[in-house]
Amino acid sequence: MALGQGTSRHTPTTDLAPDPLCPRPVRGSPTIAPCDGGDVARDLAIDLGTANTLVYARGKGIVLNEPTVIALNSRTHEVLAVGHDAWQMIGRTPGYIVAVRPLRQGAITDFDVTERMIRLLLQRCGVSRLNRPRVLICVPSAITAVERRAVKEAARRAGASSAYLIEQPMAAAIGAGLAIHEPIGNMVVDVGGGTSETAVISLGGVVASTALRRGGFDIDAAIQAYVRREYGVAIGERTAEEIKVAIGSAAPFAGEFKAEVRGRELMTGMPKTVVLSPEELRGAIEDQVSLTLDAAVECLGNAPPELAQDIITQGIHLVGGGALLRGLASRLADATVVPVHLVDTPLECVALGAGRCLDSFDTLRELFVDD
Ligand code: ADP
Ligand code: MG
Repeated sequence: MALGQGTSRHTPTTDLAPDPLCPRPVRGSPTIAPCDGGDVARDLAIDLGTANTLVYARGKGIVLNEPTVIALNSRTHEVLAVGHDAWQMIGRTPGYIVAVRPLRQGAITDFDVTERMIRLLLQRCGVSRLNRPRVLICVPSAITAVERRAVKEAARRAGASSAYLIEQPMAAAIGAGLAIHEPIGNMVVDVGGGTSETAVISLGGVVASTALRRGGFDIDAAIQAYVRREYGVAIGERTAEEIKVAIGSAAPFAGEFKAEVRGRELMTGMPKTVVLSPEELRGAIEDQVSLTLDAAVECLGNAPPELAQDIITQGIHLVGGGALLRGLASRLADATVVPVHLVDTPLECVALGAGRCLDSFDTLRELFVDD
């Protein structure tokens, strides 16, 4: 299997998307329904992830699923693309175009850019001055009060009639179908791109939590660093992610195979192919994997004993795209000595949970974060 330059699934885009506002068909999950701009105002839930942003429209399901990336002209500050189009530009832009992930480590690195991205994505879902839905936004629990207010403000400026926030682990627990209102301990581990969040929830509140500003992106970076160090070859972050998805793992798995990756030799500047084994990659990413496991163990240790007892019987629910790393669930089960359930749709669980909140907006209101 060959990965990397020239073999990427995505070709460089020559169309610098002059009209990022135009509604377009959504890709990805088969559960996704097309956006239609001219609809009556439907309440929307947004999972504003560090890697992917999903929008759920009440009564419709997930209507948008795009990478949390925005491409800007750094000279004019003009937005060139958001979502998939901007993602394709990562690592491929000339100097004056920057493709950025504005939420990279769960913190908003640039308010203005984040606001523009939220506005464009909401417009794609038909939000306008004439169509003003209520918007519920799931945010990483690590973001600050100032960042929370900025996100709400951005949604209002984009046309939301009112904006509410919910913490991602809470939405994930609802999406996983957990009985969050019962006096029972529920534990959720959400491994995203830039964050890994663990929360113990009982009686509709977060009882213990840890928010680690590391996730799938850091595993990609560890792979890049390893190939550079061991083989003297530079690979891009998207190539590193492809390798991770193809043969990355946290524990040995059945049917392991090696993968070829193409990059640029640092000494000569020439293209070079390197063959990587799952075993060596496990070594390369082990530090990152351990950090995630340690954060989950710490959170479990902080939970009151009665709730910890519940979790031991109920198990831990693992969500987020990072949860798909082979062997992560079994490593987490070993580290915590608790059964681990990987949810059915880890990448969509938070958006689906927030979507459920829209259906009982008034009764679930107390779950929303107040500032
Ligand atoms: P966020 O909520 O922070 O936006 P997501 O839950 O969307 O993050 O997960 C994105 C992360 O999941 C990325 O780092 C991506 O590389 C990783 N990911 C997606 N699929 C897989 C897979 N099959 N194996 C390992 N990691 C994966
Ligand atoms: Mg997420």
